[in-house]
Amino acid sequence: MNRNGQSNLIRLKDLAPEALTAAVSGLGEPPFRARQIIKWVYQKRVDSFDAMTTMPKTLRGRLAQEFAINKMRQGRPLVSKKGDAVKFTFNLIGSPEYVECVLLYDGKRRTACLSSQLGCALRCVFCATGKMGFIRNLSQEEILGQLIGINDYLALRNDKPVTNIVFMGMGEALSNFERLRTCLEIIMHEDAFNIGGRRITISTAGVVPSIERLIAENLNVGLAISLNAASDCLRSELMPINIVYPIASLVAAAKKYYRMTGRRVTFEYVCIAGMTDTAEAAGALERLLGGFPCKINLIPFNQFGGCQYKKSSERHVLRFNDELHHRGLSATIRKSRGEDIDGACGQLVGGAG
Ligand code: SF4
Repeated sequence: MNRNGQSNLIRLKDLAPEALTAAVSGLGEPPFRARQIIKWVYQKRVDSFDAMTTMPKTLRGRLAQEFAINKMRQGRPLVSKKGDAVKFTFNLIGSPEYVECVLLYDGKRRTACLSSQLGCALRCVFCATGKMGFIRNLSQEEILGQLIGINDYLALRNDKPVTNIVFMGMGEALSNFERLRTCLEIIMHEDAFNIGGRRITISTAGVVPSIERLIAENLNVGLAISLNAASDCLRSELMPINIVYPIASLVAAAKKYYRMTGRRVTFEYVCIAGMTDTAEAAGALERLLGGFPCKINLIPFNQFGGCQYKKSSERHVLRFNDELHHRGLSATIRKSRGEDIDGACGQLVGGAG
């Protein structure tokens, strides 16, 4: 233990596969041992080396002297009335802080909406997480811990593990790029979660240099951009990041993403009554995105305490959707799930316990 009462052991879930292999080699063990450990920790979700019965007892003892397999304590999951969303709260290891994430059910899909930061620096006005301000980036252990906790929940119900991942929970995932990258390595690893890039989407509020980096590193994931307005004036009011990276630079980055990866970008668009759901807004969207093969996802705004904006009525969202179709844009209305458990888009908070 160190002076703060925390263990000096290396947090195993903070290691990327390559680093784990190097650490295991350092103990004089062959690389396949690292794959065995990955399987036990992420697929079987054990929390001790003792449980790793496919490895010699002496090795398990040596590993336990070097590494800690932490598991986050889970609060009581909140299930939405319709049963199509579950919100989880996890207590971060060695800290009084909490992070929230959501499991969404959609037919055969089990989608985990994961958080990447505690709070968020980008302060979009329609988002409860943004109101918290930025506290810190989550570690690899804390991001993957959410997924492990959700799979524990599903396994207890004899359900299959998570099939799809969206990084749309708390925080701007691309601003925690290094951790995101190593988490993706493990999420895609065949001995861990084995979820392919086709079933992973990273959402961004529009940090253009990070989109460029995502392109350069070719991480093979889907990209969703939280657009919400087609004019700089309105978007800057809703999303201050737009002042730094205005719409033209963002759409140019989206087009490059499509060109380089061949994957259609999704534009998330929150419908706020009288602001983003008007005929004028539809015209501006057509001028901005007309002719670009992309998808527009309309999200009814989820209200939260202390927010001045109002949700568009169902009728208005339908009309706006029709208007976009009429203008030749490919739009769908995203079913809002988990609003009654404060687990819908923009409602996650977590924070200090
Ligand atoms: S919408 Fe996303 S980027 Fe914007 S404040 Fe909320 S968490 Fe941050």
